[in-house]
Amino acid sequence: MLDIQKIRADFPILSQKVNGKPLVYFDNGATSQKPQVVIDAISTYYTEINANIHRGVHTLSQLATDAYEASRTTIQDHLNAKHNFEIIFTSGTTFGINLVANGFASLIKSGDEVMVSALEHHSNIVPWQFLCEKTGAKLVVIPMNEKGELILSEFDNLLSDKTKIVAVNHISNALGTVNPIEYIIKKAHELGAAVLIDGAQATPHLRPDVQVLDCDFYVFSGHKVCGPTGVGILYGKEEWLRKLPPYQGGGEMIAEVTFEKTTYADLPHKFEAGTPNIEGGIVLGTAIDYMNAIGFDNIAAYEQELLLYGTKRLQEIEGLKIFGTSENKASVISFNIEGIHPYDIGTIIDKLGIAVRTGHHCAQPIMQFFNIPGTIRASFAFYNTKEEIDIFVEAVKKAQMMLS
Ligand code: PMP
Repeated sequence: MLDIQKIRADFPILSQKVNGKPLVYFDNGATSQKPQVVIDAISTYYTEINANIHRGVHTLSQLATDAYEASRTTIQDHLNAKHNFEIIFTSGTTFGINLVANGFASLIKSGDEVMVSALEHHSNIVPWQFLCEKTGAKLVVIPMNEKGELILSEFDNLLSDKTKIVAVNHISNALGTVNPIEYIIKKAHELGAAVLIDGAQATPHLRPDVQVLDCDFYVFSGHKVCGPTGVGILYGKEEWLRKLPPYQGGGEMIAEVTFEKTTYADLPHKFEAGTPNIEGGIVLGTAIDYMNAIGFDNIAAYEQELLLYGTKRLQEIEGLKIFGTSENKASVISFNIEGIHPYDIGTIIDKLGIAVRTGHHCAQPIMQFFNIPGTIRASFAFYNTKEEIDIFVEAVKKAQMMLS
């Protein structure tokens, strides 16, 4: 059992008032709040060891390098990656997907296929469209059903030896659906396709084991797992990271540079050109340690309680429709109220101190599927409470009354 009040005390922002009301932060799908240990670690880095890494002989540079590399190992352990050089620091999920999609341009040709799903965030669509434009490959989309679940029989039919890579999210940020990635990875591998998993929305809720999953790439963002913005992780299997060309050229990623020819540094540095987000990399390790101390089994169990409670309470509201009704869901509730634009609800409840996301959630194809302009999305984290859900439901009722 989690002591939620004790956990909440770790997050200074949660005791704030917004628009004169106690903050109810239900926009965790967009970014998570940060515990004091993470805030302190940022300050400690700049107060005590700030220096550039991997190149200085002086003490501070070595301390910063050690802390950065220790964080890489923390993340390796967290994901259960086989080698720590399979962990590439990026600026976030978007960067990680672009890195892989860009690299695949050298591995695929016209007539090949790249597969994504109907449930993707724009970051897991647009980089693959770039790739297809560049190479003449075709973008193929796994369709979904009315519950917001991928249709696996269609996936089976679409998959062929033309498929070179399948890129799907682990959990949909717009609907909360947990995708059957184990099945997708197994089937794709049977036909020789690589698989990239977009874990941006999954990593706040669960601990992925990349060796058990056997995925080829797994990407996520630090800011969704209680860490800073501007840092993220690309896990790649050694064989794939060796096959892919570097993404950006510059300092740190080279072995030797002459005007005639440059050779590249070994993994992971081959993909880490330039001075990285040193503080972000180090503090991401602190954030992951913080979440592991709470325990992802505890987090998942408690968030499921919030999801069930929130779903039940919202269903009291007449004319309310939830989008994403799979039994296999994370703590995200996307909904609309008949006759009311989601933006109007969001604006009114903001005045009551409640933060939710309204709009298309960077997943316009999902909105097109349901033929709606957007939804109101309440996404819960382990530091939210049922009392906050009660405040939220009453606020939504009030907004509905004002707007109808
Ligand atoms: N994919 C999914 C499923 C997401 O939820 C997000 C963030 N909303 C992203 C990709 C993009 O992440 P970032 O903006 O941190 O790069």
